[in-house]
Amino acid sequence: MAAEQQSIGDSGFLVDQPVSYCSKCTSSIDQSHQSIIRFNNRLYHNNCFTCGICHKNLNNSTNTKIAVDNNEPVCAQCKLANARMCYVCQKPILTDGSITFDTNTYHDDCFRCCQCQKLLIDETKLAKHNSKPCCITCYDKQFAPQCSQCLKPISTGKIVTCDTKKYHSDCFRCGQCNKSLVDEKDLYEYNSKPCCFQCYEQQVAPQCVECHKPISIGKVLGWNENKYHEDCFRCYQCNKSLAGENNLFEHDSKPFCSECYRQRFVPRCAQCAKPIIDKYRTFKDKTFHPN
Ligand SMILES: [Zn+2]
Ligand SMILES: [Zn+2]
Ligand SMILES: [Zn+2]
Ligand SMILES: [Zn+2]
Ligand SMILES: [Zn+2]
Ligand SMILES: [Zn+2]
Ligand SMILES: [Zn+2]
Ligand SMILES: [Zn+2]
Repeated sequence: MAAEQQSIGDSGFLVDQPVSYCSKCTSSIDQSHQSIIRFNNRLYHNNCFTCGICHKNLNNSTNTKIAVDNNEPVCAQCKLANARMCYVCQKPILTDGSITFDTNTYHDDCFRCCQCQKLLIDETKLAKHNSKPCCITCYDKQFAPQCSQCLKPISTGKIVTCDTKKYHSDCFRCGQCNKSLVDEKDLYEYNSKPCCFQCYEQQVAPQCVECHKPISIGKVLGWNENKYHEDCFRCYQCNKSLAGENNLFEHDSKPFCSECYRQRFVPRCAQCAKPIIDKYRTFKDKTFHPN
Protein backbone atom coordinates (compact mmCIF):
# COMPACT_ATOMS: atom_id res chain seq x y z
CA MET A 1 0.00 0.00 0.00
CA ALA A 2 1.52 3.22 -1.12
CA ALA A 3 1.92 5.83 1.57
CA GLU A 4 0.04 9.01 1.13
CA GLN A 5 2.45 11.87 0.72
CA GLN A 6 1.83 14.31 3.53
CA SER A 7 4.84 16.50 3.92
CA ILE A 8 5.48 18.18 7.23
CA GLY A 9 8.19 20.72 6.65
CA ASP A 10 11.64 19.54 5.68
CA SER A 11 12.43 16.90 8.23
CA GLY A 12 9.06 15.39 9.08
CA PHE A 13 7.62 13.21 6.31
CA LEU A 14 5.88 9.97 5.57
CA VAL A 15 8.02 7.03 4.63
CA ASP A 16 7.50 3.43 3.67
CA GLN A 17 9.92 1.37 5.73
CA PRO A 18 10.15 -1.68 8.05
CA VAL A 19 9.12 -1.63 11.72
CA SER A 20 10.72 0.88 14.04
CA TYR A 21 9.82 2.47 17.36
CA CYS A 22 8.18 5.74 18.36
CA SER A 23 10.42 8.01 20.41
CA LYS A 24 7.47 9.16 22.48
CA CYS A 25 5.35 6.12 23.36
CA THR A 26 8.14 3.59 22.61
CA SER A 27 5.74 1.15 20.92
CA SER A 28 6.43 -0.07 17.43
CA ILE A 29 5.52 1.83 14.31
CA ASP A 30 4.47 -0.25 11.36
CA GLN A 31 5.70 2.04 8.67
CA SER A 32 3.73 0.31 5.93
CA HIS A 33 0.41 0.95 7.68
CA GLN A 34 0.95 3.96 9.87
CA SER A 35 2.13 7.39 8.94
CA ILE A 36 5.16 8.49 10.87
CA ILE A 37 6.98 11.68 11.50
CA ARG A 38 10.71 11.93 11.44
CA PHE A 39 12.07 14.81 13.46
CA ASN A 40 15.54 15.51 14.80
CA ASN A 41 16.65 12.00 13.72
CA ARG A 42 13.81 10.36 15.67
CA LEU A 43 10.55 8.71 14.65
CA TYR A 44 7.10 9.49 16.05
CA HIS A 45 3.53 8.30 15.54
CA ASN A 46 1.45 11.07 14.09
CA ASN A 47 -0.44 11.40 17.37
CA CYS A 48 2.70 11.20 19.45
CA PHE A 49 4.39 14.15 17.81
CA THR A 50 3.49 16.61 20.56
CA CYS A 51 5.21 19.44 22.39
CA GLY A 52 7.27 17.99 25.24
CA ILE A 53 6.09 20.78 27.53
CA CYS A 54 2.45 21.72 26.72
CA HIS A 55 1.66 18.45 24.86
CA LYS A 56 0.02 20.34 22.00
CA ASN A 57 0.10 18.29 18.81
CA LEU A 58 2.76 19.65 16.52
CA ASN A 59 1.57 17.88 13.37
CA ASN A 60 0.31 20.99 11.72
CA SER A 61 3.11 23.29 12.75
CA THR A 62 5.57 24.25 10.12
CA ASN A 63 9.01 22.97 10.95
CA THR A 64 10.50 26.36 11.71
CA LYS A 65 8.21 26.74 14.70
CA ILE A 66 9.22 23.44 16.23
CA ALA A 67 12.19 23.73 18.52
CA VAL A 68 14.15 21.11 20.39
CA ASP A 69 14.50 20.93 24.13
CA ASN A 70 16.26 18.00 25.81
CA ASN A 71 16.08 16.20 22.44
CA GLU A 72 12.28 16.46 22.49
CA PRO A 73 10.23 18.57 20.13
CA VAL A 74 8.68 21.61 21.78
CA CYS A 75 6.46 24.34 20.37
CA ALA A 76 7.86 27.79 19.80
CA GLN A 77 5.88 29.35 22.65
CA CYS A 78 7.14 26.80 25.17
CA LYS A 79 10.68 27.17 23.90
CA LEU A 80 10.50 30.91 24.41
CA ALA A 81 8.88 30.61 27.84
CA ASN A 82 11.53 28.15 28.98
CA ALA A 83 14.52 29.69 27.27
CA ARG A 84 17.48 30.78 29.35
CA MET A 85 18.42 34.42 29.11
CA CYS A 86 21.77 35.40 27.71
CA TYR A 87 23.92 36.89 30.48
CA VAL A 88 25.17 39.61 28.15
CA CYS A 89 22.28 40.78 25.95
CA GLN A 90 19.50 39.57 28.29
CA LYS A 91 17.61 38.06 25.35
CA PRO A 92 16.32 34.48 25.31
CA ILE A 93 18.60 31.82 23.85
CA LEU A 94 16.45 29.99 21.29
CA THR A 95 19.16 28.33 19.27
CA ASP A 96 20.51 24.97 20.31
CA GLY A 97 24.04 26.25 20.57
CA SER A 98 24.75 28.21 23.71
CA ILE A 99 27.65 28.48 26.08
CA THR A 100 27.53 28.02 29.81
CA PHE A 101 30.31 29.68 31.75
CA ASP A 102 30.40 29.96 35.52
CA THR A 103 26.64 29.11 35.75
CA ASN A 104 25.69 31.84 33.25
CA THR A 105 24.51 31.13 29.71
CA TYR A 106 25.53 33.02 26.59
CA HIS A 107 24.64 33.22 22.93
CA ASP A 108 27.61 31.97 20.94
CA ASP A 109 28.02 35.46 19.60
CA CYS A 110 27.70 37.13 22.99
CA PHE A 111 30.43 35.05 24.56
CA ARG A 112 33.22 37.59 24.44
CA CYS A 113 36.14 38.78 26.55
CA CYS A 114 34.83 41.19 29.18
CA GLN A 115 37.77 43.49 28.45
CA CYS A 116 38.60 43.48 24.73
CA GLN A 117 35.31 42.00 23.42
CA LYS A 118 37.17 39.34 21.48
CA LEU A 119 34.95 36.38 20.55
CA LEU A 120 35.84 33.47 22.82
CA ILE A 121 33.97 30.45 21.39
CA ASP A 122 37.10 29.00 19.83
CA GLU A 123 39.46 29.83 22.70
CA THR A 124 40.90 26.78 24.42
CA LYS A 125 42.02 28.64 27.54
CA LEU A 126 39.84 31.11 29.35
CA ALA A 127 40.18 33.12 32.49
CA LYS A 128 37.48 34.56 34.68
CA HIS A 129 37.07 38.01 36.13
CA ASN A 130 34.05 38.85 38.33
CA SER A 131 32.31 35.73 36.97
CA LYS A 132 32.76 37.03 33.42
CA PRO A 133 34.87 35.38 30.75
CA CYS A 134 38.16 37.05 29.99
CA CYS A 135 40.77 36.22 27.37
CA ILE A 136 44.17 35.14 28.67
CA THR A 137 45.92 38.18 27.19
CA CYS A 138 43.67 40.66 28.98
CA TYR A 139 43.69 38.64 32.16
CA ASP A 140 47.48 38.49 32.28
CA LYS A 141 47.72 42.21 31.70
CA GLN A 142 45.12 43.31 34.17
CA PHE A 143 44.08 40.78 36.75
CA ALA A 144 46.47 37.88 37.11
CA PRO A 145 48.33 37.56 40.41
CA GLN A 146 52.09 37.71 40.08
CA CYS A 147 54.22 34.68 40.83
CA SER A 148 56.64 35.50 43.65
CA GLN A 149 59.28 33.31 42.06
CA CYS A 150 59.38 34.08 38.31
CA LEU A 151 57.47 37.39 38.62
CA LYS A 152 55.26 36.44 35.67
CA PRO A 153 51.46 36.53 35.83
CA ILE A 154 49.65 33.39 36.98
CA SER A 155 46.77 33.25 34.54
CA THR A 156 45.75 29.63 34.37
CA GLY A 157 46.54 26.48 36.21
CA LYS A 158 46.96 25.91 39.89
CA ILE A 159 48.02 28.78 42.10
CA VAL A 160 49.99 27.84 45.15
CA THR A 161 49.59 30.26 48.02
CA CYS A 162 52.15 30.28 50.80
CA ASP A 163 51.65 32.91 53.48
CA THR A 164 50.80 35.98 51.41
CA LYS A 165 52.80 34.94 48.35
CA LYS A 166 51.48 33.26 45.23
CA TYR A 167 53.33 30.90 42.92
CA HIS A 168 52.87 28.94 39.71
CA SER A 169 52.69 25.38 40.93
CA ASP A 170 55.84 24.71 38.94
CA CYS A 171 57.63 27.69 40.52
CA PHE A 172 56.89 26.65 44.08
CA ARG A 173 60.26 25.11 44.86
CA CYS A 174 62.79 25.03 47.65
CA GLY A 175 64.99 28.12 47.39
CA GLN A 176 67.99 25.99 48.36
CA CYS A 177 67.76 22.67 46.49
CA ASN A 178 65.06 23.56 43.91
CA LYS A 179 62.93 20.57 44.88
CA SER A 180 59.21 21.01 44.13
CA LEU A 181 57.29 21.83 47.30
CA VAL A 182 53.78 21.42 45.88
CA ASP A 183 53.10 18.15 47.71
CA GLU A 184 55.28 18.98 50.69
CA LYS A 185 53.53 19.24 54.06
CA ASP A 186 56.33 20.72 56.15
CA LEU A 187 57.21 24.09 54.70
CA TYR A 188 59.81 26.47 55.99
CA GLU A 189 61.05 29.85 54.94
CA TYR A 190 64.64 30.86 54.50
CA ASN A 191 65.84 34.18 53.02
CA SER A 192 62.20 35.04 52.21
CA LYS A 193 61.99 31.95 50.01
CA PRO A 194 60.19 28.71 50.66
CA CYS A 195 62.50 26.00 51.89
CA CYS A 196 62.16 22.24 52.22
CA PHE A 197 62.52 20.46 55.54
CA GLN A 198 65.90 18.92 54.74
CA CYS A 199 67.48 22.18 53.61
CA TYR A 200 66.01 24.06 56.50
CA GLU A 201 67.40 21.51 58.89
CA GLN A 202 70.86 21.62 57.37
CA GLN A 203 71.21 25.31 56.79
CA VAL A 204 68.92 27.22 59.02
CA ALA A 205 67.92 25.37 62.14
CA PRO A 206 69.99 26.04 65.29
CA GLN A 207 72.31 23.24 66.35
CA CYS A 208 71.99 21.44 69.64
CA VAL A 209 75.27 21.81 71.61
CA GLU A 210 74.69 18.42 73.17
CA CYS A 211 73.99 16.07 70.24
CA HIS A 212 75.20 18.45 67.48
CA LYS A 213 72.09 17.79 65.41
CA PRO A 214 69.86 20.57 64.04
CA ILE A 215 66.84 21.55 66.11
CA SER A 216 64.08 21.75 63.52
CA ILE A 217 61.16 20.11 65.28
CA GLY A 218 59.94 20.99 68.74
CA LYS A 219 61.11 23.56 71.22
CA VAL A 220 64.54 25.11 71.17
CA LEU A 221 65.84 25.40 74.70
CA GLY A 222 68.23 28.26 75.20
CA TRP A 223 70.56 28.22 78.16
CA ASN A 224 73.70 30.32 78.58
CA GLU A 225 73.73 31.22 74.87
CA ASN A 226 73.65 27.52 74.01
CA LYS A 227 70.75 25.81 72.28
CA TYR A 228 69.44 22.36 73.15
CA HIS A 229 66.78 19.94 72.00
CA GLU A 230 64.27 19.76 74.79
CA ASP A 231 65.24 16.13 75.21
CA CYS A 232 68.98 16.85 75.20
CA PHE A 233 68.90 19.34 78.03
CA ARG A 234 69.87 17.06 80.91
CA CYS A 235 71.96 17.11 84.04
CA TYR A 236 75.55 16.43 83.08
CA GLN A 237 75.93 14.15 86.04
CA CYS A 238 72.73 12.12 86.53
CA ASN A 239 71.16 12.62 83.09
CA LYS A 240 67.87 13.80 84.60
CA SER A 241 65.89 16.01 82.19
CA LEU A 242 66.27 19.66 83.09
CA ALA A 243 63.61 20.98 80.69
CA GLY A 244 61.28 23.16 82.69
CA GLU A 245 63.61 23.02 85.70
CA ASN A 246 64.13 26.34 87.50
CA ASN A 247 66.85 25.27 89.88
CA LEU A 248 69.79 24.98 87.53
CA PHE A 249 73.47 25.08 88.24
CA GLU A 250 76.37 25.48 85.90
CA HIS A 251 79.86 24.13 85.95
CA ASP A 252 82.26 24.34 82.98
CA SER A 253 79.32 25.48 80.82
CA LYS A 254 77.46 22.24 81.61
CA PRO A 255 74.06 22.18 83.29
CA PHE A 256 73.60 20.32 86.58
CA CYS A 257 70.58 19.57 88.70
CA SER A 258 70.74 21.01 92.21
CA GLU A 259 71.40 17.65 93.90
CA CYS A 260 74.28 16.70 91.63
CA TYR A 261 75.76 20.15 91.82
CA ARG A 262 75.61 20.12 95.60
CA GLN A 263 77.22 16.71 95.85
CA ARG A 264 79.93 17.43 93.37
CA PHE A 265 80.97 21.04 93.75
CA VAL A 266 79.73 22.51 97.00
CA PRO A 267 82.30 22.25 99.79
CA ARG A 268 81.56 19.72 102.49
CA CYS A 269 81.78 20.21 106.17
CA ALA A 270 84.91 18.56 107.51
CA GLN A 271 82.97 17.77 110.66
CA CYS A 272 79.60 16.34 109.51
CA ALA A 273 80.47 15.66 105.81
CA LYS A 274 77.28 17.36 104.62
CA PRO A 275 77.48 19.98 101.85
CA ILE A 276 77.71 23.58 102.94
CA ILE A 277 75.39 25.70 100.86
CA ASP A 278 75.27 29.04 102.64
CA LYS A 279 77.80 30.35 105.11
CA TYR A 280 80.82 28.41 106.14
CA ARG A 281 84.03 29.08 107.93
CA THR A 282 87.46 27.77 107.18
CA PHE A 283 90.00 26.66 109.68
CA LYS A 284 93.41 25.35 108.73
CA ASP A 285 92.32 24.87 105.06
CA LYS A 286 89.26 22.89 106.15
CA THR A 287 85.69 24.03 105.76
CA PHE A 288 83.06 23.84 108.50
CA HIS A 289 79.41 24.72 109.01
CA PRO A 290 79.26 27.98 110.96
CA ASN A 291 78.31 26.14 114.16
ZN1 LIG B 1 3.85 6.82 19.56
ZN1 LIG C 1 4.32 23.69 23.93
ZN1 LIG D 1 23.25 37.36 23.95
ZN1 LIG E 1 40.51 40.26 26.04
ZN1 LIG F 1 56.22 31.48 38.38
ZN1 LIG G 1 65.58 22.01 49.74
ZN1 LIG H 1 70.28 17.50 70.94
ZN1 LIG I 1 71.87 15.51 88.39
